[in-house]
Amino acid sequence: MMRPMRELLEEAKKGGYGIAAPNVFNRETIEACFLAARKLHAPIILDVAYIHGVYECADLARFYEKRYPEVPFALNLDHGGPYEHIVRAIHAGFSSVMIDRSTCPYAQNVEEVKEIVKIAHAVGCSVEAELGHVGQGFEYEETRDAGLTKLEEALSFVEETDVDCLAVAVGTSHGVYKGEPHLEFELLDQLQKEVPVPLVLHGGSGTGDDNLARAVKVGIQKVNLNTDVSEAGKQALREALASTEIKVAGAGKDEFTPKKMNMQQTCMAGAAGFQAQLEHYMKLFGSENRW
Ligand SMILES: [Zn+2]
Repeated sequence: MMRPMRELLEEAKKGGYGIAAPNVFNRETIEACFLAARKLHAPIILDVAYIHGVYECADLARFYEKRYPEVPFALNLDHGGPYEHIVRAIHAGFSSVMIDRSTCPYAQNVEEVKEIVKIAHAVGCSVEAELGHVGQGFEYEETRDAGLTKLEEALSFVEETDVDCLAVAVGTSHGVYKGEPHLEFELLDQLQKEVPVPLVLHGGSGTGDDNLARAVKVGIQKVNLNTDVSEAGKQALREALASTEIKVAGAGKDEFTPKKMNMQQTCMAGAAGFQAQLEHYMKLFGSENRW
């Protein structure tokens, strides 16, 4: 069942685990999320970038919600930009929206987040905002330190905006890292102790299993994943395209026929690769068997 993201994250905070939030954009990736969540009995957050179609993805999520009503999930707009995009996601029925004003001055960030919180909360939709700035991996070494979240600001930000969860910058980065990722676990520990709402980690991909498991243990409840699950899907697609045999279910036993995969079979193979990587992260974050 679709639930407000705040509720899922509060439960994760109480239980000491993290929820995987992969970027989804079509039928295959959304179905893969439901299948992984159902298989592992894990909650899931579907992160949708506006450019990938909020109305389309909302309908797909509702379709799989009917098919697998037992799966607890949130549908979240990832990195909401223009005001109209965020309002459209709320209109499409999202149970959460992120408003990203992390590159704006503090006062502007507060003002614009407050406005969205007022609208979203009126229809039971959660809001995620970002304070500090999680930059891009290619400029990691130059931008990392300046972007780190400041504890005092985080406390006043949550108080002033009434936001439901906070994306913090503790040394991760979007996309592929240039250099080694090093995380500020002490800062994260201070934040989780004092900030009264669940915390979100952007840039989970490429951060490494040890770092991510530790971040969840210290106090992260939502881990955004794009590059890693996407790359796993792409690798499975490549293998499918290169294969010369497909498996055909026979009467009582498997048979092999020497023909290339068609487009549908190739897409499903890619989705299976995406799903396997997602399951790996669900287990790593301790979200298995939570319902
Ligand atoms: Zn992000």
